[in-house]
Amino acid sequence: MAIIQKTSEEIELMREAALVVSRTLGMLASEVKPGVTTLYLDKLAEEYIQSQDAIPGFLGLYDFPNTLCMSPNEQVVHGIPNNTPLLEGDIISIDCGAVKNGFYGDHAYTFEVGEVAPEVKKLLEVTKQSLYVGIEQFKIGNRVGDVGYAIQKFTEDHGYGVVRELVGHGLGKTMHEDPEMPNYGRRGRGKKFIEGMVVAIEPMTNLGTKNIKHHSDGWTITTRDNKPSAHFEHDVALVDGKPELLSTFGYIYQALGIESDEELPFRKEVLVL
Ligand code: MG
Ligand code: MG
Repeated sequence: MAIIQKTSEEIELMREAALVVSRTLGMLASEVKPGVTTLYLDKLAEEYIQSQDAIPGFLGLYDFPNTLCMSPNEQVVHGIPNNTPLLEGDIISIDCGAVKNGFYGDHAYTFEVGEVAPEVKKLLEVTKQSLYVGIEQFKIGNRVGDVGYAIQKFTEDHGYGVVRELVGHGLGKTMHEDPEMPNYGRRGRGKKFIEGMVVAIEPMTNLGTKNIKHHSDGWTITTRDNKPSAHFEHDVALVDGKPELLSTFGYIYQALGIESDEELPFRKEVLVL
């Protein structure tokens, strides 16, 4: 399959779709706390996305039953929202998709529920950093393997496990386009990046073993050793040869009172929230 290039107009439409997801995650940021259920958060997200003249992107996709993939603690991704309350010290990966202007936005953040153990906090920090380490390599002259290599090297240097079975992907009018974007790889290998392509880069990083297990509900995936796993995802376009962020964690940071300039190198203009 060929990589689908987007025009600059299409990339602006995709930015709107990505920002619907960013605002949804920002709205959820102040709702994530001990005692809240993932099903409640899922309902909030569904209503919020609809209020933005957008459609929940995951609901019904491959028969997924909900708006959000909610994956606490040892769950890696694709967790199904349920009525179990979040507990102090949990982490919860929230992956959200929305369709706006006929294009998909797809991005994810792993939240802390109350006070989290220092080793888990570190896992979250390193996984998020690895996302930007990967994004830096998404540029003309590079290939898929350059992004994967950079993420893998950074992650394994910290002693963490890089999930192999699940990967990032091209994004557009469908949720999963070419190319696949693994979080591991070899420099100079794989498909060449081209101007106007859009990808979701999404490291999934385990505190312990890289190995995972699939559960009988057909969706839930956990670490094989039941140690925590983190997941961060951005939507990125290749513009003027360089990575340009379409999504933002800015709404989350605004809600949580976090100061960050991590996205600045990947934007032509400062994003006004
Ligand atoms: Mg996602
Ligand atoms: Mg994705």
